[in-house]
Formats: sequence, C-alpha cells, structure tokens
Amino acid sequence: MDDRQFRTAMGKFATGVTVIATDVDGDVHGMTANAFMSVSLDPKLVVISIGEKARILEKIKQSKTFSVNILAADQQELSMIFAGQLKEHREVIFDRLDGKPVLAGAVAQIVCEVSAEHVEGDHTLFIGRVTDIQLEDAEPLIFYSGRYRSLTEEEAVTLK
Ligand code: FAD
Repeated sequence: MDDRQFRTAMGKFATGVTVIATDVDGDVHGMTANAFMSVSLDPKLVVISIGEKARILEKIKQSKTFSVNILAADQQELSMIFAGQLKEHREVIFDRLDGKPVLAGAVAQIVCEVSAEHVEGDHTLFIGRVTDIQLEDAEPLIFYSGRYRSLTEEEAVTLK
C-alpha cells in the first residue's frame, strides 16, 4: 500500500467541509479541514485532526480554543482561501460567537475549548468541549474524491 492509495481510499469517505478558526491576541487564523467528527453528547465533545506542518497547530495550542465552521454549498471560495488554494490573499471578516471567531453564513458555527490533545503519527487530535453553537438553514458543501460537490434532492434516500 502506498501513500497515494491510502489517500484515494480515505477520499472515498464523503464529508462536509469546515474552516477551523482560532484567535491569538486578536490575530485570527483559519484552516480548511474535513477531519472533524462528533465524539460525545454528555459532555458535548468534538474532535479535529491537524497536520504537524499546519501553522494553525501552534496557534490552537496557544489559544486553547477553536471554532468549527461547517461550510454552506455557496462557500467553496472560503474553503479554497483557507486551504491556501488561491494565489492572492483575500480579506475575510470573522463574526464572534462566545468571543471566538466564526464565519457568517456557515451551516453551523461550533465554538470549543480544548479539553485534550493527542499526537498521533503526523497529526494532532484536539478534543473540543463545545461551549456554544449557531445554526443556519442552508445546504452544506460536500467534499468527495478530491472534488467539491453539493447535495441534490434526487440523491436523498428515505430510511424506514
Ligand atoms: P496557512 O497555509 O497559513 O493558511 C491557509 C490559508 O488560509 C492561507 O492561504 C492563508 O492566507 C489563509 N488565511 C488564514 N487565516 C486567514 C485570515 N484571517 N484571513 C484571510 N485568510 C487567511 N489539513 C489538516 O491538517 N486537517 C484536515 O482535516 C484537513 N482537511 C482538509 C480538507 C480539504 C477539503 C482541503 C482542501 C484541505 C484540508 N487540509 C487539512 C489541508 C489544509 O487546509 C492546508 O494544508 C492548509 O493550507 C494548512 O493551513 P495552515 O494552518 O498551515 O495555514
């Protein structure tokens, strides 16, 4: 098994797209991430996974807080900005929720305090204790097999 085959296999897991944001001394830093999941209902915990080379890693360690912004279908450009996929720098204005930076228009804004961190291989898992949530009625942006997509009604399946 080589790296490419592993990445291709992992890309077969369709996900939403988030922007993780944190704030150190008023300086907001964002990063696109799809390694996000819910961990526990009581207490309310989530997990994110940050690569060892990502600049946001040290910033979250410092601030001990982060927000997870689940992007809407019309926010692909934000995903590209915070993944470093656009050449020119774009100014992005952040709102605040519970004092943490969040993105307006996101399907969900989830703000967290770091409750634990675990280094696993070349990534660090941050467990976040959720302190506040804001929801928006919008369709999510989807990432599958290395491409951005959106949901369509025809694909919806009703479970009985
Ligand atoms: P930088 O490279 O410093 O920042 C990323 C970009 O965001 C830069 O272009 C920067 O200018 C811009 N930016 C940051 N803050 C601001 C601001 N306040 N205003 C305007 N622009 C700003 N990596 C992971 O570690 N974990 C994942 O789960 C993950 N999932 C991904 C999912 C998808 C769909 C994609 C496309 C990428 C994913 N990545 C993930 C890769 C990650 O997004 C990139 O490697 C990213 O560039 C690394 O971020 P960095 O912290 O080093 O920040």
